[in-house]
Amino acid sequence: MTILQLEHFNKFGDDIINNGSVTSRVCEKTYPRLKTLKDHMRIHTNDRRYRCHICGQAFIQNCSLKAHLKSQHPEYG
Ligand SMILES: [Zn+2]
Ligand SMILES: [Zn+2]
Repeated sequence: MTILQLEHFNKFGDDIINNGSVTSRVCEKTYPRLKTLKDHMRIHTNDRRYRCHICGQAFIQNCSLKAHLKSQHPEYG
């Protein structure tokens, strides 16, 4: 994690909220819900909680793991 990202991470508590949408302070992408933003923020905090049980590769989002299973291990899909 770079110092810049760390600074963003520390400011995570006061997300920018505009018209009911929230903006990632790190990459400035906007999301309609705080929960969606928090899922997105894992990209910046490297919280990879979804792990492929076949090859051990880890992913931030469940959908990424599913896409990985489909493309890399179609026999298990
Ligand atoms: Zn972001
Ligand atoms: Zn795998």
